[in-house]
Amino acid sequence: MSFKALLTRKTNDGVSTELVDFDEANLMDGDVLVQVEYSTLNYKDALALTGARPVIRTFPLIPGIDLAGVVLDSSSVDFKPGDRVVLNGWDLSMGHHGGLAQRARVRGEWLNRIPGNLSTRDAMAIGTAGYTAMLCVLALEDAGVTPDRGDVLVTGANGGVGSIAVAILSKLGYRVVAATGRPEHAEYLHSLGAAEIIDRAQLSEPRERPVSAERWAGVVDVAGGPTLVNALAETKYRGAVAACGLAQSDELHGSVLPFILRNVTLAGVDSVNAPQAVRQRAWDRLATDLDPQKLESTVQLIGLAEVLDVYDQIIPGKVRGRIVVDVN
Ligand code: NDP
Repeated sequence: MSFKALLTRKTNDGVSTELVDFDEANLMDGDVLVQVEYSTLNYKDALALTGARPVIRTFPLIPGIDLAGVVLDSSSVDFKPGDRVVLNGWDLSMGHHGGLAQRARVRGEWLNRIPGNLSTRDAMAIGTAGYTAMLCVLALEDAGVTPDRGDVLVTGANGGVGSIAVAILSKLGYRVVAATGRPEHAEYLHSLGAAEIIDRAQLSEPRERPVSAERWAGVVDVAGGPTLVNALAETKYRGAVAACGLAQSDELHGSVLPFILRNVTLAGVDSVNAPQAVRQRAWDRLATDLDPQKLESTVQLIGLAEVLDVYDQIIPGKVRGRIVVDVN
């Protein structure tokens, strides 16, 4: 039995990916076989497919860090045929075949059930980006950031994590300020719930002063680098910053003054190896705290072959919202 899949191979000058017929017998070990219905493209997928960072460790490999589908066969006690499942991260597209394919054999402990009111397509419209956005919101809540405390800043607002973070936070009653380098999409950001839009250039250059005027009760930051340092410097007393990304830089050259003068919390957010209880909490909240119409407005739907035309537009920041891949 063979199925359609993308396959990434190592080449002399990097990596290359093509659409292939893949033999099911060549899938890796796992106790659950999934009929994949949808996958998606995230920033990390772009890093893997362009070879910009060494995401993939084993070649050749089916890329794709996310999948949603239906269990076909299972020897895991936790899943049975017909269960609707989602998988975000773990070893997918690193050491294990990923989601950009019509089938996947994976470890049951990597899977989560899709909450009842979400479709497999919704689950991939959310994807790692949306689930990470929810992890960031949970980190702010856990640090005590409530809507009455003031504005919440979201960086990279037109991207996947940013778009979904804006939508969730506004539904929860926060006043959201969206930082973007693409003000031409202001109407889209307002439709997701942003109250105000600022130019990301306001945050992107290193500054002399380690703390500045207090602006943010909370921050969801996908950029890292000077943007994160400046966001910390502008965070209010007892505010919190959830840091999940490196779209500007993986460096952090700042001061401890926001922590020791303003009691600011810097919360790290990792989606890849998050424990199951944390994942399920995030997915359950996504089912209730994300407006389905707003989610749909972020989606661009493509087929498996079209992935090859769009992946290199992601890192330069040319894609808005979420790319969902219909693998069938
Ligand atoms: P996208 O490509 O969808 O969005 C990234 C956005 O970042 C862009 O749309 C752009 O937004 C903004 N951006 C790009 N370059 C810069 C820059 N130089 N300075 C400031 N902002 C910039 O990616 P995702 O939303 O999928 O991922 C965002 C980040 O989060 C990535 O770094 C990714 O690796 C990370 N991530 C981390 C996870 C984790 O587990 N920790 C999980 C998921 C993502 P705009 O056009 O609005 O300016």
